[in-house]
Amino acid sequence: MTDLTKPDNPDSRCGFVAIIGRPNVGKSTLLNHILGQKLSITSRKPQTTRHQVLGIKTEGDVQAIYVDTPGMHEEEPRALNRYMNRAASSALKGVDVVVFVVDQGHWTTADEMVLSKLEHVTAPVILVINKVDKLERRDALLPHLESVARKRNFEEIIPLSALKEQNLEPLENAVNRLLPVSIHFYPDDQITDRTQRFLASEIVREKITRQLGAELPYSVAVEIEEFKHSGKSLHISAVILVERSGQKKIIIGDKGDRIRQIGHDARIDMEKLFDSKVMLRLWVKVKKGWADSDRALKSLGMNDF
Ligand code: GDP
Ligand code: MG
Repeated sequence: MTDLTKPDNPDSRCGFVAIIGRPNVGKSTLLNHILGQKLSITSRKPQTTRHQVLGIKTEGDVQAIYVDTPGMHEEEPRALNRYMNRAASSALKGVDVVVFVVDQGHWTTADEMVLSKLEHVTAPVILVINKVDKLERRDALLPHLESVARKRNFEEIIPLSALKEQNLEPLENAVNRLLPVSIHFYPDDQITDRTQRFLASEIVREKITRQLGAELPYSVAVEIEEFKHSGKSLHISAVILVERSGQKKIIIGDKGDRIRQIGHDARIDMEKLFDSKVMLRLWVKVKKGWADSDRALKSLGMNDF
């Protein structure tokens, strides 16, 4: 049989890279900074990433397709387990490289659980020790490095700061080196498999979680009603769906202060991402039971759950 992935150019490489790790270690931040684009939403709250997003980076002959994995409740080990089982059987299957992210602070039982799911993974695993900018002294890392090195035969162990973009290059070089010879699966200028509409809705959702996280994390969804170029700007209208009128009041805020701030912050991110002036309109609508409705979930792009 002919190998359809065999390139004419013998230096051409391409493959999938899974970024895994317990919630809050900085997986989405890492992906965004590798891509130099904000694709994946981040926050101090662990459950921010709800969807799986592909981040595609092509440099010269090499195309790395990164998969950021959805977070889960730290306080709910069952969900973590369920997720990791699924991740082990789907996301990790067919992956060429695994980037396992941990925090510089300490190795937790959740890290241990992620590690145990990697037991049968044959792809090379790179261990990233993130957030080293928090260290007061560099040498404080040494005992940690020694103890994690014993946990598995890691391809490489790379301390870095995703947020401050320190030491990202050694990681990217290691990833690129491990990718197989192959044709590129995506056009070289494509950065994600997600549509701009989807990214716009995720940005609005991120701003809501950032500003009101503790008050209404799960019961909010964002639907993009309009997304069109008009003149020099991009016109975007988004409906924020909530389940109760009390939640609507919270999002709107005193005299509309809150929603204005959400819209302002979202617009700034969208202008950067879409490289265009953006006119953003936000609405809040109460839609009872949207979270239970299959159709609603599908229309919001959550059918992969
Ligand atoms: P995820 O759940 O693993 O995707 O984690 P996120 O990317 O959402 O990051 C969780 C939190 O850690 C956010 O508040 C980030 O700003 C923060 N964070 C991520 N990387 C770094 C880093 O290198 N240094 C520091 N100090 N904070 C970071
Ligand atoms: Mg995330």
